[in-house]
Amino acid sequence: MNAIRLLIHGASGRMGQALLRLAGEQSDRYQVVAAVTRRTPSPRVVDGVPYFAASELAGVPAFDVAIDFSLPDGFDPILALCVERGAPLVSGTTGISGQQATALNQASTSIPLVWATNFSLGVAVLAELVERAASALPGWDVDVVESHHVHKKDAPSGTALTLGQAAGSAGAQVHYASLRAGDIVGEHTVQFTGLGERVELVHRATHRDVFARGALHVAQKLVDRAAGSYRVRDLLD
Ligand code: NAD
Repeated sequence: MNAIRLLIHGASGRMGQALLRLAGEQSDRYQVVAAVTRRTPSPRVVDGVPYFAASELAGVPAFDVAIDFSLPDGFDPILALCVERGAPLVSGTTGISGQQATALNQASTSIPLVWATNFSLGVAVLAELVERAASALPGWDVDVVESHHVHKKDAPSGTALTLGQAAGSAGAQVHYASLRAGDIVGEHTVQFTGLGERVELVHRATHRDVFARGALHVAQKLVDRAAGSYRVRDLLD
């Protein structure tokens, strides 16, 4: 099998750098044909990977799938490029607007895509457990408490909102609390509080490679899929 040609969008960020490193370690599976950064990159080629500025997006070479971990203002151009090229998109960018979510839904009629607030296997399982607990504990208070590093811009985190939606789908009213401290990669606690008792479901990510690895795995699975919007758990095995 030929290596999958990847475009990494948001390449200079924490996640972008993790993706480039992990893809580079598996060069039989992945070939990064374009690393896209917000500003004009210097140097233009690093470890054999060609870099492009966001303003040069229209001119990037052919790719099999794009992986986007940028910020909401970078989301529209990469979605538009994937639709124009008929290429799959994997995006982990959180904090996107309602309008951007609508555009994502529209794009899923023409390309295969995954937009997920969390690419870890543990959180996919946690969401299922939360849904189950919420339907088994009607009337209990449900709180999602999340902690992240001080550089994280959106709050509550996208993952907290996804977990809240999982509880909400079982009828719970959910409240959120966010902490920003030090270099915490990501911690989520979903707390169910009844009279005289409490259940806590907790996930701790200790390394951001877990998200990058998940995104690369999903990207590989998305190539050759029919157009549509897929969840991480649809593509796990
Ligand atoms: P970061 O701030 O380190 O990196 C963001 C990068 O995006 C920066 O390099 C920035 O220059 C780039 N960028 C911004 N606007 C751009 C544009 N218009 N065009 C191209 N690039 C642009 O952030 P990070 O920690 O790497 O996280 C990136 C995103 O991924 C955030 O939205 C974060 O919440 C999300 N995230 C998601 C998961 C997940 O599993 N879904 C995990 C971790 C982080």
